Amino acid sequence: MPSGSPLSSPNSKDAPRRGLATRAVHPPELQPQGGRPTAPLLDLSSTYSFEDAEEFARASQAKVGEGYVYARWANTTVDLFEAAVADLEGTEEAEAFSSGMAAIACVCLALCDAGDRIVAARQLYGTTFALLSQRLPRYGIETTFCELDDYDSIAAALPGSKLLYCETIGNPRIQVADLKQLAALAAEADVPLVVDNTFASPVLCRPAELGAQVVLHSATKFLGGHHDLLGGIVCGDSASVDRVRAVARDVGPTLAPFNAWLALRGLATLHLRVIRSSESALVIARALHDHPAVDAVHYPALPSDVHRSLAEKQLSGMGGGTLGFEVAGGKQRATRFQEGLKLVQPAASLGGSHTLLVHSASVTHTQLSAQELKEVGISQGFYRLSVGLEDPGDILSDLTAALDATADL
Ligand code: PLP
Repeated sequence: MPSGSPLSSPNSKDAPRRGLATRAVHPPELQPQGGRPTAPLLDLSSTYSFEDAEEFARASQAKVGEGYVYARWANTTVDLFEAAVADLEGTEEAEAFSSGMAAIACVCLALCDAGDRIVAARQLYGTTFALLSQRLPRYGIETTFCELDDYDSIAAALPGSKLLYCETIGNPRIQVADLKQLAALAAEADVPLVVDNTFASPVLCRPAELGAQVVLHSATKFLGGHHDLLGGIVCGDSASVDRVRAVARDVGPTLAPFNAWLALRGLATLHLRVIRSSESALVIARALHDHPAVDAVHYPALPSDVHRSLAEKQLSGMGGGTLGFEVAGGKQRATRFQEGLKLVQPAASLGGSHTLLVHSASVTHTQLSAQELKEVGISQGFYRLSVGLEDPGDILSDLTAALDATADL
């Protein structure tokens, strides 16, 4: 250790010289002096030690989230990520999770008991749909599904339910939820509106500003942004987040500190990435719309899209980085198209640096029966495209070359 180093060792000063095994467990520690690190500190501790026995006992009994005792309850790097996302979403607090599904499951378990009922939009990420329609009923929690814009049915279903659930932009058909309208219906029935804001990110939409009580994300997507972490986060008022945190403490779907650190690094470029992928997605949506091998394009920033005016009001005039399109001619032609891609990668995620494409019926929505796929509008030619940060011209050339190569089918 050079003299003047900010590293100091408990073994090197007044303490007696300890054995190698002890010194290996208690290495020199970083002392806060000199310049401040600009990158967040990565705190990998799973537990925290206390000199004062009473303080230890007090901290262990404190409200979840107050102080550091054990990393399933709270960790400093994870706390930094939670504070950052709560700030971007404009909510009082946030609680991070090991994945988006962990976040969604814990919200449902926090707000519902056996015998309770959820009201949800029918257009949801496949695993969320499976959680609500198949898994939670095994624990006595049922869901009434309604079309996203069938406000009469939603209003009729809400009384007596425990939460109203939707996605800002529905996966994978890219429908935009009218959050103000849904929040008003939920408020009338005194039911919290819970919004999965994964596709929009707080750059395009902040559901809490529109009346949502709980906002959640798969941080695996835009928040992380580089296809290198799994994570989830739940944002809301302190009382709601406290309830979710209590479930997380018992169930244990904790975000790993390194993933929180990666997600914090992702947040630094969130704004740039979301704007860039939205701008590129619009260029691609326009071109696919005019391509003869494409039956339909679903993208809310297209002038012809039914959700255009909502995107204008609610998504800062943009459509986001994800679009849906239907290859004409069914599964065989769709498969030839997918296998002809050279730059765009067939892979099951979205919201990151690389452009990814997924065949929804056979990958993300396999939990749905043929009838359910039909009801939510997923045909055998349907693809979800997550537009990354490459040159939009290169993405488009790859897509059109692969489509053109199917012309004989
Ligand atoms: N919500 C949406 C809208 C998603 O698209 C996904 C995954 O694709 C999830 C939640 C689940 O997130 P995770 O894969 O991080 O569990």
